[in-house]
Amino acid sequence: MNQQLDLELRYMSAQLESRTPQQILRWAVHTYHPKLCMATAFGAEGCAIISMLAEIEPDVHVFNLNTGYQFTETLELRERLFEKYGILVKMVESEESVEEMENRFGGPIHHIIPDECCRLRKVEPLRKEVKGWSAWISSIRRQQSPHRAKSDIAEWDAKFNLVKINPLANWSRQELWKYILANDVPYNPLHDRGFPSIGCAPCTLPVCADEDERSGRWTGFNRTECGLHTR
Ligand code: SF4
Repeated sequence: MNQQLDLELRYMSAQLESRTPQQILRWAVHTYHPKLCMATAFGAEGCAIISMLAEIEPDVHVFNLNTGYQFTETLELRERLFEKYGILVKMVESEESVEEMENRFGGPIHHIIPDECCRLRKVEPLRKEVKGWSAWISSIRRQQSPHRAKSDIAEWDAKFNLVKINPLANWSRQELWKYILANDVPYNPLHDRGFPSIGCAPCTLPVCADEDERSGRWTGFNRTECGLHTR
């Protein structure tokens, strides 16, 4: 990234700090579409953004990294979002099927070396999918973790070599759910069963109401990120 682009992004990000997610998305669409894409794991945040994109620009390319380990409820949500908004989320497959990967390692590796499992099933597929695009939309919120707290609204993503836009960076969990319920946005039923953050089934547990919302991810490991949002 050159210095000029870095300065422009910092300036724009500062300007967007006080804007609503919809205003941020309108700016992103105006600036980057049709080279704008979005990754979603069908979390509540992603569903909210999809509902906003349905009104702003439904042709934005939206994809899910299909790890092969997602909950059935998560995969069904793709159909529900399509029925409501007409946005069909593309399922991006890893180079190896789960069966091929597990045969190569002699079994599942998510409980032994989750870094490698996430790299193979999320990070590398994302790298491949965003190649050639100018910007991607993510659903992260600053409140979710100390690491995510450092995110700008618009920033250069050096890991994947394109601009990253975080329209919900400023939203609290309460603001998110207020929007979802007010707009009848389809969401994963697991959220009502104690799962505030939903990833792959083997690496996601329900949490108590007073626990950190990502504390049910990779329990037993010192990690709360799969590698897509780490710098
Ligand atoms: S979240 Fe778990 S199952 Fe999913 S890719 Fe990462 S380690 Fe593998």
